[in-house]
Amino acid sequence: MSSPFSWIQPHPWGIYIAPADCWVDPGRAVDTALVTHGHADHARGGHGKTVATPETLAIMKLRSATSEGATPVHYGETTTLKGGVKATYIPAGHVLGSAQILLEHAGERVVITGDYKRRADPTCPAFEVTPCDVFITEATFGLPVFTHPPIADEMAKLLGRLAAYPDACVLVGAYALGKAQRVIAELRAAGHTAPIYLHGAMEKMCRLYEEYGVDLGELRLVADTPKDDMRGHIVICPPSALNDRWSRRLPAPITAMASGWMRVRGRARQRNVELPLIISDHADWNELTDTIREVDAQETWITHGREAALLRWCELNQRKARALALVGREEEDE
Ligand SMILES: [Zn+2]
Ligand SMILES: [Zn+2]
Repeated sequence: MSSPFSWIQPHPWGIYIAPADCWVDPGRAVDTALVTHGHADHARGGHGKTVATPETLAIMKLRSATSEGATPVHYGETTTLKGGVKATYIPAGHVLGSAQILLEHAGERVVITGDYKRRADPTCPAFEVTPCDVFITEATFGLPVFTHPPIADEMAKLLGRLAAYPDACVLVGAYALGKAQRVIAELRAAGHTAPIYLHGAMEKMCRLYEEYGVDLGELRLVADTPKDDMRGHIVICPPSALNDRWSRRLPAPITAMASGWMRVRGRARQRNVELPLIISDHADWNELTDTIREVDAQETWITHGREAALLRWCELNQRKARALALVGREEEDE
């Protein structure tokens, strides 16, 4: 443990904390896992012990990815791991329960962000800038071309289309954990009080968000509703159901999709999306670079996406940085 930060060891399938003998977001079953949030590529099941926020543990249980030793840590709470390593869970602003993990050992502070964003999100507390020596940041949208528009613009597009076609419905494809609930909560914030209809696959996660105090307004199930009752309404489904036989039960659906990838025209075309909504739960290019500046760590380690451009940006801005080659991080949460 002589060289600085050598106790934090990136591997292709997770980050190993040597003195504590535990992993952060490991891609395979381990004895002790620290989990940042409930998305499948971060929260795999089968660990001996899983340390995460109560919300993340509840999400993992719902997704049947839980383990025997579920150990809750609340935001702001510090827990001491093996070897005297201290771990503090700090809001990441990504989805319900999502946390950055601050690790402290031998006088050094390391922050692992997991996934994060800086935009306000009515479904989870905002990202907190935490001073540290090593900042390990995601880079899902780590290219300057990725700038997410204000969510109010996207909500106006969606509500405008809905109002223009009162005999149709707008079918919004949104990932079942996080994106779906954020879209619903943002619609409510924009003054949309009408019932919102759900594909059956979204129901349990929406109920879980409500249990944790996120108000989603009146939700109804498509399966319980006659076709004509859904005219002039919004329906939310998983992206995989957008072009599925399932959508035949809807009245003249206009297909929309809420994803940061909707910035890329080809992606919208691929999915036959008529109304692309650029809504992301990840930091865009400016949020990534602003955050690196604000955190102002000695070293920035970049993972989980497009590392090269951000690495170059760090070099040009005289910041010490390295790219980690973690595998198995999916785009499914977008
Ligand atoms: Zn995620
Ligand atoms: Zn992720």
